[in-house]
Amino acid sequence: MSNSGKLIIFAAPSGAGKSSLIKKIIKDSENNLELSVSATTRLPREGETHGEDYFFINEKEFNELKSNQAFLEFADVHGHQYGTIKSFVDEKLKDGINVILDIDVQGFTQIQKAIIKDIISIFIIPPSLDELKKRLVLRGLDSNDAIDKRLENARKELEQAENFDYLVLNDDFNMAYNQITSIIFDKDYEYNVTNNKNILEDLLN
Ligand code: 5GP
Repeated sequence: MSNSGKLIIFAAPSGAGKSSLIKKIIKDSENNLELSVSATTRLPREGETHGEDYFFINEKEFNELKSNQAFLEFADVHGHQYGTIKSFVDEKLKDGINVILDIDVQGFTQIQKAIIKDIISIFIIPPSLDELKKRLVLRGLDSNDAIDKRLENARKELEQAENFDYLVLNDDFNMAYNQITSIIFDKDYEYNVTNNKNILEDLLN
């Protein structure tokens, strides 16, 4: 894939606050930064718009895209299919636009193997698994079954977090936001990976 923009990959367990952080970063950014709109077989939630939040498609359409090699990566997440549309990302990168991918760790692993020069990968860590559950219940978007599934996946995702370039703890929203903008925009930003690795280890033990 030829490119001049940067690909910035965000992953996190569901409820870690990734979407809110990404929304604010894009809104505040005067730089060339856009979110890639993925395709999914999940049904739209209230307030979600086709083409803005996702391209909501059915299984048949998703499988057709898969057979046509239209995805940069795709994965089954919490029982639904999700995929990054190659042409969508490629066009933006070619135009020099930096593209944010909000994907899960399976997708990240696939993209690591793709031939893309400039990738920054960021994993958002929640303060604790209990806090994660609290946030998922409070946001009221998912059924109890869906919440249980998301928590089960959270542990698996956290175990993969070490493979990302940066680990960012989202205990305090503004601190996490500042850290991410430094990672993305500040060339001289010094990052202490050990601190956040310790937090990750505590969380898993
Ligand atoms: P939600 O259903 O809450 O919008 O997203 C569920 C999970 O799917 C999130 O962790 C999100 O990052 C992930 N996801 C969204 N789009 C994609 C995609 O295109 N590929 C992959 N692998 N995961 C995605």
